[in-house]
Amino acid sequence: MKAYLKNIRQVVPYTPGEQPKQPGIIKLNTNENPYPPSPKVMEKLCQIDRLRMYPDPAVTELVEAIADYKGLSKDQVFVGVGSDDVLAMCFMTFFNSGLPILFPDITYSFYDVWAELFRVPFQTVPLDQDFKIVPEDYKRPNGGIIIANPNAPTGIFMPLDEVESIIAANQEVIVIVDEAYVDFGGTSAQCLLARYDNLIVVQTFSKSRSMAGMRIGYAMGSSVLIKALNDVKYSFNSYTMNQPSIVLGKASIEDDSYFKNTCESIKKTREWVKKELRELGFRFPDSKTNFIFAAHESVPAEDIFLAAKKENIFIRYFKKPRIDNYLRITIGTDEEMKKFIQFLKNYLDER
Ligand code: PMP
Repeated sequence: MKAYLKNIRQVVPYTPGEQPKQPGIIKLNTNENPYPPSPKVMEKLCQIDRLRMYPDPAVTELVEAIADYKGLSKDQVFVGVGSDDVLAMCFMTFFNSGLPILFPDITYSFYDVWAELFRVPFQTVPLDQDFKIVPEDYKRPNGGIIIANPNAPTGIFMPLDEVESIIAANQEVIVIVDEAYVDFGGTSAQCLLARYDNLIVVQTFSKSRSMAGMRIGYAMGSSVLIKALNDVKYSFNSYTMNQPSIVLGKASIEDDSYFKNTCESIKKTREWVKKELRELGFRFPDSKTNFIFAAHESVPAEDIFLAAKKENIFIRYFKKPRIDNYLRITIGTDEEMKKFIQFLKNYLDER
């Protein structure tokens, strides 16, 4: 064995959902928004210039647009390359006590990958039998906490008073609330920022703003925590945000009615899909996101996943303890969901 091999960092990477490219598929596997970004974003796209030059390392235009929109000051907002980048920066910046950080056993499967990568010790905390987070279980010594609210892939939203009880009981450490899906029916913990300086709230343009391809995420927190994040970012790569993302992110923020309308459309479709799935024998926790995490009463999830794939319908299946009989189904357009439900009807009839 070559001596250098033992000094190479070994990590088991996060596995993103498939990105099949063939035309005509129904893609319900990576929680993308089925609608395009605001027309105002697309207009601006044609006017992008300044590509010759480095982008603004402080991302000022977009930081200010987000801060104004959220009613925060600009030193309370940090922008990164998707919330994955923001969360990774948070792990690096805030979780250095040596004590294990806590997160649910079933949650976004990137958390344990970052913990391993940055050598942050961690303990997973089991969700209850209904896949709910139990706040009491987070009241013990730890090096920090991260929860997704709504949680993924369950889709369950934890009421803010329960989120607050976790933050209040852990004021010696940083608590991160990952709100990637909050715009589809949850309530943001942003309102708790004024009372808790140990709180970081992370959101993204990837889902509710239809901009997964632009890679824009952001953190909101006290100016002290935001400065700490910026210091780490500038020590790593000053120009994380490319010029088009800065300009187009701002254009998206400026078109609030389009944003609200598309979120409403997705919520409406989701409620209709819930009804259809129930009639077909599926059960699922009540989703407040743009996906539904469903198990069938008699047919194994993996069989449905494979049969759907044969019909060019992509949904997500995780072969993991506790959730290996569930499917995560992203809410597409009405037309896509009608086709998906028709597929399920045919498939379940024929079995
Ligand atoms: N948090 C959660 C819970 C997610 O499901 C995702 C999407 N994979 C992300 C964060 C990251 O999203 P993005 O990097 O596109 O903002």
